[in-house]
Amino acid sequence: MSPFSELPEFAEQSRRDDAVEFDDPTKRGYGWTKRSKKVKERDQNICQRCGDHNGNYEYHPLVMETHHIVPGKYLPKADARVDLNLVTVCGTCHSHIEGAHVERQFKETGRDNALTILRMLKEKEHSLRFLCRNLDLSDEEVRMTMSQLEQMNCVMSIGSARYQATCPATAKSAAERARMQLEFEQERRQQLETALENLRRQVTCNLDELEYALESGDVERLELALERIRDALRTTPSQQ
Ligand SMILES: [Zn+2]
Repeated sequence: MSPFSELPEFAEQSRRDDAVEFDDPTKRGYGWTKRSKKVKERDQNICQRCGDHNGNYEYHPLVMETHHIVPGKYLPKADARVDLNLVTVCGTCHSHIEGAHVERQFKETGRDNALTILRMLKEKEHSLRFLCRNLDLSDEEVRMTMSQLEQMNCVMSIGSARYQATCPATAKSAAERARMQLEFEQERRQQLETALENLRRQVTCNLDELEYALESGDVERLELALERIRDALRTTPSQQ
């Protein structure tokens, strides 16, 4: 199974750990404004997706936003705020990339090294040395990108010689799909239970009628009761 379709285990584990402070947009609090400003300065207040900036507008200033590539709610605060995970975008681009696959976001915001590393690791596990040689980057550059990718839960085990790629952005949709499937099954089960209950009531009611007809020797009544039972049984629960 592709690691990109799986929920990263330790992301889920840290989500369950109440002691971890996530970069929850509703609880960002102190420090976010400052961090966000730094990111915008680093990106020279230019949208990293479309290249738009305030110099293009004389009267209506463009509001730039700081976007989390891997949503803050999936990561401890310190990890969610690493350089690689934060990017300056305009409002329009923000709505385009929000929730998109991490690879697509890297591609569209010019994070080429991170994208290449992720893609290489998705195909196969590689050593740090192999990555350096093939990307024509220094050991330090690869190490830095790798360590941020690890913080973002995109790769696992930077400490070992080999790495495994995973992808938290798809985890959300996988978890969401599983939840929807469960809800659908629960609803279906409820419908079937109701249908079976109705059927039981109908049959029991007509059985009483059948017994009465047998006792009284009323043939017409007997036939009618039998017909009603047959009707009830012909209607399968799923049709009700
Ligand atoms: Zn833009």
